[in-house]
Amino acid sequence: MTQPQTVPIKIHPRLVSGRFNNARVAMVLLTQLIFFATPWLQWNGRQAVHLNLADHHFLIFGISLWPQDFIYLAALLVVSALGLFLWTAIGGRLWCGYSCPQTVYTQIMIWIERLTLGDHLARRKLDAAPPSAGKYLKKGMSHGLMLVFALWTGLTFVGYFTPIRELAVGRMGPWDLFWTLFYAAFTWLLAGVLREKVCLHMCPYARFQGAMFDEHTLIISYDDKRGEPRGKQQAKAQGDKGCVDCGICVQVCPTGIDIRAGLQYECIGCAACIDACDQVMDKIGAPRGLIRYTSAHALQGKPAPSQSLHRPRLALYSCLLAGIIALSTTALALKKPFKVEVLRDRATLVRATDDGWLENVYNLHLTNTTEQPQRFELNVEGLPGIRLDARDRQIAVPPAGNETIAVRAQVAPEHAGRGAHDIYFVVRSHTRDGATVREKSSFIGE
Ligand code: SF4
Ligand code: SF4
Repeated sequence: MTQPQTVPIKIHPRLVSGRFNNARVAMVLLTQLIFFATPWLQWNGRQAVHLNLADHHFLIFGISLWPQDFIYLAALLVVSALGLFLWTAIGGRLWCGYSCPQTVYTQIMIWIERLTLGDHLARRKLDAAPPSAGKYLKKGMSHGLMLVFALWTGLTFVGYFTPIRELAVGRMGPWDLFWTLFYAAFTWLLAGVLREKVCLHMCPYARFQGAMFDEHTLIISYDDKRGEPRGKQQAKAQGDKGCVDCGICVQVCPTGIDIRAGLQYECIGCAACIDACDQVMDKIGAPRGLIRYTSAHALQGKPAPSQSLHRPRLALYSCLLAGIIALSTTALALKKPFKVEVLRDRATLVRATDDGWLENVYNLHLTNTTEQPQRFELNVEGLPGIRLDARDRQIAVPPAGNETIAVRAQVAPEHAGRGAHDIYFVVRSHTRDGATVREKSSFIGE
């Protein structure tokens, strides 16, 4: 990779159109539709995605996750990371160019700027203009609109953690307000002010993703064999197929680099320069592709092997991904629809009942991990004749709710000698196909 180039203080990329720009716009719309719409979706009469940190309960489209289930969230994070590694090894910086939130929000902020201040030339002119009330009014209006949009994103983000319908009518606590403002300020600062500097100087992924590249990874590159020497005359001499040195590929670049200087880490793979150069080539009647998606392998003039997807690192990422997805989905499918915790009452080790039996006291904590109400039947086993003297052996627990009840296990003295004996609390759900949980505990004899 070549050394970083000097870039202007503020980059105002020229508007570009073309197939890759269309793909980028489509990704902006798709990702924002998902982000803004998801907290409004309902599932069984409740918010479909609700990450309730206060109650340690995550609800995701009918799947209830409690602190004990955070292994699934860890698996989801590992799958996302491995998916990104696999995608990067195949497609290079496609993630950065099309779907990274920094790219997406920067694109939206540039649209707002274009709407309020005009095209790239007008914006550059305004930047260069001496300080005046008019200049600051225009800039203030532009940033004001960006802040409104950023506030909307902040409110939506907090809506994943606090019911968004309550936030929308102004029912928000001080922490909700704090995080809404914090997220809004963060979005405005990163996408509205810092923009490409985040990719160039702050993003760690930009630094280490080169380690995932190999000679078959998709890159955006200028074909210098075809393009050089550049210039109108030289291009004519080459049959109008070379670079006419119009500089439009540099003007559209959101990071302000010249792709003709070679592969650079500042290139976020947005393909704006491909669209720009293709248009120039169309105008001069030359074949497209002077700047194009290619690979280091193809650039060296080697024939593109049909099995370029058969690479050890791809096989490794794919196997790991498939393994983790298979394991976690199987575990999720087999997950019990409720959880039982048994806590011995340590204040009362053992006592005698009126009829002379021995009695231990326990607290049973039942958690309904589904989105339907459940009724449970409690039993105990493990010692001859052991019985349960619960106030109510039929317990109803609301959807995604929990109940703690005190129960007393009783055993005849001849079956519970001195010391601890293993016993089992058996909890059966009446409403979930008779699902049963058997939880071990101990009974202290006389
Ligand atoms: S060099 Fe091309 S692909 Fe890379 S960031 Fe600039 S415009 Fe986008
Ligand atoms: S847009 Fe194409 S022709 Fe124009 S300077 Fe860039 S590479 Fe050369």
